[in-house]
Amino acid sequence: MNQSLHPNHHSPEPGFALRQTLYKGWAALAKPVYRVLPIASPEVISGNQALAEGIAELAKQGIRRPVVITDTAFVGLPVFQRLLDTMNEARLDYSVFSDIVPDPDFSIIERGIEHCRNHDFDGVIAIGGGSSIDATKVINPCARHNIDPRRVPGMLKLRKRGHYFMAIPTTAGTGSEATAAAVITDELTHQKKVVISLTVVPELAVLDPSLMMGLPPGITAATGMDALTHAMESYLSRYATPKTDALNLESMARIFDHLPRAFHDGANDEEARRQMAIASHNAGVAFTRTSVGWVHAIAHQLGAFYGVPHGLANAMVLPHVLAFYLPFAQPRMAQMARHIGLKGSTDADLALALVDAVHNLCAQLQIQPLLTMVKEEDISQITRNVINEAYRSPYPVPGYFRSYGELEAFIRGMMVAR
Ligand code: NAD
Repeated sequence: MNQSLHPNHHSPEPGFALRQTLYKGWAALAKPVYRVLPIASPEVISGNQALAEGIAELAKQGIRRPVVITDTAFVGLPVFQRLLDTMNEARLDYSVFSDIVPDPDFSIIERGIEHCRNHDFDGVIAIGGGSSIDATKVINPCARHNIDPRRVPGMLKLRKRGHYFMAIPTTAGTGSEATAAAVITDELTHQKKVVISLTVVPELAVLDPSLMMGLPPGITAATGMDALTHAMESYLSRYATPKTDALNLESMARIFDHLPRAFHDGANDEEARRQMAIASHNAGVAFTRTSVGWVHAIAHQLGAFYGVPHGLANAMVLPHVLAFYLPFAQPRMAQMARHIGLKGSTDADLALALVDAVHNLCAQLQIQPLLTMVKEEDISQITRNVINEAYRSPYPVPGYFRSYGELEAFIRGMMVAR
C-alpha cells in the first residue's frame, strides 16, 4: 500500500474532522431512506429481437409521436438506421434530436426540450450510451412540464414524470437505463451536476446485444470498466443489501469472463456483448440503491477538469481505490475475489489478489491506471471537490481519508507508476 497514506504523515486540518463527523451522521440518517426509496426498475426486453419488440411495446402503449434522442456520432451509424426502419414499419410519427455529445451540458438539454415541445411529443426513445440516456431523463419531464433544467440537479428536486420513456443502451455500460440518476455538465461552472429523481427511471429498457457489435474496442473497454466499478463500489457500499450483493457478484463474474472477449472480438462475439449488457444493467439496478464511492468522486473530477471519458476515468482510479480499501474492507474484498474464481488461503491474500486482478484486467484492455493528466496546480481544488461530492451525496464508502493532505497524497500516488 502507498506509504504516503499513513495518517501520521499529515497533521490534522481544522474543519476536516468536523466535516467527516457531519458526513457520517448524514450517511447514517440516509441509510434507512435509501433502503426504502421506491426506486422503480424498468421493464426489460432483452435479446436479438429486443429492438423490434421494444418498438411494438411502444406502439402498444399508444405512443404515436415519440422523439428519438441520440448523440451526434451515433446518428450516423447503421444501427441507428435499423431503429428508424423499425419505427417506419410501425408507422410512428417520430422526430429525431441528435445533438447530444458525451457528458452533455445544460445548453444541449435546453435545445432538446425545445425540440420535444415543437414536435408535440408523447414519448421518448433514448438510444446510445449514458450521455443520451441521461440527457433524455432530464429533457423528457422538463419538456412535458415546462421546468427549467438548471433547477433540477440535487436530491429529489425533479418530481414530475415525463412521457413514456424507452431506453436503448448501446454501451455496456453505465446502467443508466436502470438508475434514478442523470449526470449533466454545467457549462458555466465546469462541474458535473447529478440529478437524483425517482421519476426519471425509464419505463422500458431494451437490451439488444446486436446493437453493440460495432462498439469500438476502446469504448467497449472503458464502458465495461464503468460497469465493473459500479458493481464493486456498490458491493463495498455501507448501504449494500443481500439483493444488491447478489446482483453485483454476478455482474463482476460476468464482466471478468466476458469483457476481455468483447474487447478483443466484440464485432463477432455476440455472447460476450449479451453478457456485458446484462452485467451493466444489473449493476445499474444495484448501485442506484446503494450509491457509489471514492472511485466515482475522483473520476468525476477527471472528467470535469480534463475531459476524461467517464468509464476510462473510473477504470484508471478503481485499482488504486481498491488498494486503499484493503485495511477497511478485507472480508468483502475476499468475497468478491472468491466469486470471480481467484485463489488465496486467507482473506488478506484474496483481497490482494482482487486488486491484482483489476490491474491485470486493465492491462488486458490496454488501460493504464496512471493519472498523468492531473496538473499539480489543480490537486488542491480536485481534493476539495472529491470531498464535497462524496460527503454531500452521501457516498457510503467503507473507508475514509483522515485529512485533505492524505487524499492529496493519494491522488499524487495515482500519478506515478506503482
Ligand atoms: P457516451 O454515451 O458518452 O458514448 C460514448 C461514445 O460511444 C459516443 O460517441 C457514442 O456515439 C458511442 N457509441 C455508443 N454506442 C455505440 C455503438 N453501439 N457503436 C458505436 N459507437 C457507439 O458513453 P457512456 O460511457 O455510455 O456514457 C457516459 C455518460 O453517462 C457520462 O456523462 C456519465 O457521467 C454518465 N453516467 C450516468 C450514470 C447514471 O446512472 N445515470 C452512470 C454512469 C455514467
